Amino acid sequence: MRTKVAIIGAGPAGLLLGQLLHTYGIDNVILERKDRDYVLARIRAGVLEQGTVNLLDEVGVAARLHREGLIHDGIEVAFGGARHRIDMKAATGKTVTIYGQTEVTRDLMDARKAAGLTTVYQATDVKPHDFDSDHPRVSYLKDGTSHEIACDFIAGCDGFHGVSRAGVKPSAIQTYERIYPFGWLGILSETPPVSHELIYTNHARGFTLCTMRSMHRSRYYLQCPLDDDIDQWPDDRFWDELKRRLDPKAVDNLVTGPSIEKSIAPLRSFVAEPMRFGRMFLAGDAAHIVPPTGAKGLNLAASDVHYLSGALREYYDEKSSAGIDGYSAKALCRVWKAVRFSWWMTSMLHKFPDQGEFGARIQLAELDYLVSSKAATTSLSENYVGLPY
Ligand SMILES: Cc1cc2nc3c(=O)[nH]c(=O)nc-3n(C[C@H](O)[C@H](O)[C@H](O)COP(=O)(O)OP(=O)(O)OC[C@H]3O[C@@H](n4cnc5c(N)ncnc54)[C@H](O)[C@@H]3O)c2cc1C
Repeated sequence: MRTKVAIIGAGPAGLLLGQLLHTYGIDNVILERKDRDYVLARIRAGVLEQGTVNLLDEVGVAARLHREGLIHDGIEVAFGGARHRIDMKAATGKTVTIYGQTEVTRDLMDARKAAGLTTVYQATDVKPHDFDSDHPRVSYLKDGTSHEIACDFIAGCDGFHGVSRAGVKPSAIQTYERIYPFGWLGILSETPPVSHELIYTNHARGFTLCTMRSMHRSRYYLQCPLDDDIDQWPDDRFWDELKRRLDPKAVDNLVTGPSIEKSIAPLRSFVAEPMRFGRMFLAGDAAHIVPPTGAKGLNLAASDVHYLSGALREYYDEKSSAGIDGYSAKALCRVWKAVRFSWWMTSMLHKFPDQGEFGARIQLAELDYLVSSKAATTSLSENYVGLPY
């Protein structure tokens, strides 16, 4: 098989890149190690920046998003037993849209199928080759038979544990990492959200986030120890602990119900530099991870593939390498700002094992400053709705 761009991974980064390239007339093939249903069953992000929505509009897959997505003008931040609203729209003129990552993925998969584009699901032992040369290749196994795709470029969109970044020789890559000493225990339930906007809570028992996927599907997170066991968290225990961390009005409004998904996710900040290795590019979680506190992971995957698709379009349409030469620096500039924002939100809102009373007081002072200063509110809002591309 031959294609212009071989994309490894059918997560949001790979699927959106494939659709953008198709829009620009650049043929591409996606190789995904799991099956379609497995990818769609992964419950992850839910907050989309306007820039992400614009990209989904550009590739013509946002009709359902505009029908079903919830527009949020602000968020609430709770500490010291009281809630404070941050009006992001008033501060920036921009909003965010609540629409689940699974729905984004489904819309992109459907559009790809309708356009007759090739996606090889359950492709195993995927390996990028010769990306330092002008003739890169990707090999894989499908149903026990080996295959190879010759291509002009490889896009490594295969997430944090993928093969693309792992295939780069260590001397060519620099990584930066922070692992946080706690995780997020999350549940999804078919219940109405406790409030019409997200509530981020700093509490002495640990951080809590009340979020949602729709007006009848809620997502709640509790900060938990990294070594916590999911089996020790029956639904009743989860709801009891959530109530302990919420303000009284939220407790009154909370509707509980059986969980339909429950998981523990570790929190990590990670950046790999550069994001280009000859004729292979990294995009999305393959190159960087942020703790979900700032709702940036999926949105960064989108901005990466925006830069990458533009660079490849320039290469094919204008016979210019300037875009692909500048891709890594351009993407990393935005990535690091989102890494900083996600780290800052995480630091301000979570209980750290070594923070002591002093650290707790500093957090409360910072939160009080945040909700009482126009400058601080604007700064959070600008970052939360998404920095410009
Ligand atoms: C529990 C959780 C909650 C999150 N919450 C949020 C949030 O609220 N907001 C937010 O913005 N972000 C959130 N994120 C992050 C967000 O989900 C990711 O940033 C996003 O999925 C990145 O997309 P991606 O396409 O780069 O990577 P992925 O979604 O990881 O997709 C990579 C794809 O590559 C495939 N793959 C991997 N290895 C191979 C291989 N060897 N061969 C072929 N295919 C391969 C994988 O199966 C997968 O389909 C969350 C993440 C988690 C885990």
